[in-house]
Amino acid sequence: MKTVKQVSADFSEQLSTIYEANEVNSLCMIVLENVVNISSAKIKAFPETGISTPDSERITNILTRLATGEPIQYILGYTEFYGLTFNVNPSVLIPRPETEELVDWILSSVRSSELAVGKFLDIGTGSGCIPISLKKNLPEAEVSAIDISPEALQTAKENAELNKVNINFIENDILNPTNHSLLTTHYSLIVSNPPYVTLEDKKLMHTNVTDFEPHTALFVPEDDPLIFYKAIADFASTHLEKDGLLFFEINESYGKQIVNLLNSRLFINIELRKDMSGKDRMIRATK
Ligand code: GLN
Repeated sequence: MKTVKQVSADFSEQLSTIYEANEVNSLCMIVLENVVNISSAKIKAFPETGISTPDSERITNILTRLATGEPIQYILGYTEFYGLTFNVNPSVLIPRPETEELVDWILSSVRSSELAVGKFLDIGTGSGCIPISLKKNLPEAEVSAIDISPEALQTAKENAELNKVNINFIENDILNPTNHSLLTTHYSLIVSNPPYVTLEDKKLMHTNVTDFEPHTALFVPEDDPLIFYKAIADFASTHLEKDGLLFFEINESYGKQIVNLLNSRLFINIELRKDMSGKDRMIRATK
């Protein structure tokens, strides 16, 4: 029978070339907690704890997948975002901590504004992490979300059920919107974390992102990296109510350009914010 200590040694041996030591440690903890169902405190305090053969086999299978660079969230099939659980699979981007910061900014802006909560729209919803965490925290909002991918929408619907919220999901392409109700509705808030990674950025990215996460959710054409921001800003100019709010997650290299773009479309109170790593990461603007 293997012990916790031996499993941890297997993790270091197989993952040290692709992950930093502290990441290897936290992956080992996550897997042990998940498979063996023991607390991280117990794992740390009792390294000689034995692990049953079936559990050991499950851990070995997970480790083999981790060693290919597959993200742990896809292997386990879920992740946490804004204190909620979301199912994830390769049809959706794994929710990121910087997007939690965006959700936080939206919630505090809505709570501190004098405006009625009204109708919200999330464009390119993926796993549904943005609209679901907004609806969970502002139950009076009427929340819709669109995505071009039917598989992503299916996952987002499952996540809405899992978190017991009601969201209106619509399959649509924001570069070529066709849905009648989408085009006739006016919103009090529009948010988007659209694809924003350029080929230049791709060179610097970890292969567990580029080899496993959905390229339609990540990459933009080299010759038009702001294609989604232009389309969404145009859509928002005609579909936001007066004083309505527009929120974007952005590529850190394009903060000024997106501010200019919003200025040129007559948005006001444009504010650029950094994420916890000090990178320009999100923008708020008012119609
Ligand atoms: N922040 C994500 C990443 O760095 C990209 C998200 C996006 O393109 N919208 O992988």
